Amino acid sequence: MTVILDGRLLADKITQNLKEKTSSLKIKPKLAVIIAGDNPASLIYVKNKQKRAEEIGFESLVLPMPQDVSEENLLENIYILNEMKEVNAILVQLPLPNHINKFNVIEAIAPEKDVDCFSSRNAGKMLCGYQPYVLPCTPKGIIRLLDNYNIELEGRNVLVIGRSNIVGKPLSVMLQARNATVTAAHSKTRNLKDIALNSDIIISAAGCANLVTADFVREGAVIVDVGINRVNGKLTGDVDFSNVYPKASYITPVPGGVGPMTIAMLMENTFELYQIQNQN
Ligand code: NDP
Repeated sequence: MTVILDGRLLADKITQNLKEKTSSLKIKPKLAVIIAGDNPASLIYVKNKQKRAEEIGFESLVLPMPQDVSEENLLENIYILNEMKEVNAILVQLPLPNHINKFNVIEAIAPEKDVDCFSSRNAGKMLCGYQPYVLPCTPKGIIRLLDNYNIELEGRNVLVIGRSNIVGKPLSVMLQARNATVTAAHSKTRNLKDIALNSDIIISAAGCANLVTADFVREGAVIVDVGINRVNGKLTGDVDFSNVYPKASYITPVPGGVGPMTIAMLMENTFELYQIQNQN
């Protein structure tokens, strides 16, 4: 029987736990989110993050900037947030407008406030096997979800489709650290289907609807769908859910799988950064 990996349920437990821990704090953790432009999906994501932060009892600060904001102005705002003692965590919502150098912006965030482990100093630590301040939200959420269902990673063949700095690349590194045998696939990968058929776990983060079809999946494989796509106005992942479901042992739904876990990890990371900054 196929088991649904219920990200919403686990995310709710995590946030409830954070709410309880936050209620006794005199000074609350504070998350700052910068959003530049009016990308409709980004506006929804930021609103959901702010809502969740406030439900937990965190302080939240959203800095909306126009599409034509200058890079200099954006950087200045990050420097101000870096200096604000009451701000514990900073997130810059991606994508940024095309004229802005994403690298400069990410590198400007103080490493101890870099809530998604975006910067090269934090990501580099993770790559080298040292502990960064916090781990990146989406990969951390995926691994937490698999752990919650006692899905073994050690020694298993895991296919990660996608190699972005946000999802695929850090996820591959984190899975290797858990002794999984990882194949990192991308748009130039040949024979993706053959690799998929040899995989115990398939994690798709390509942003490509119906990429993972039933003929890619061997009986009993674990399927994690990170993709968020809109097809005819409907939200869908990368996996052909209805046809893959009967073959899988475990599978995430979209929505209700990785998405809520990403937000829960953002909240957990905000809390962890708060704790690190208030240790003494
Ligand atoms: P990017 O566009 O940055 O990266 C996509 C990756 O997938 C690239 O490495 C690309 O390869 C690869 N890819 C694209 N098409 C194919 C294909 N047909 N076959 C194999 N590989 C392919 O996206 P992100 O990593 O930022 O996000 C990926 C998806 O996950 C998106 O749908 C995004 O919306 C979603 N997402 C969901 C989150 C959640 O919480 N659920 C959080 C973050 C993202 P190449 O490098 O060669 O171009």
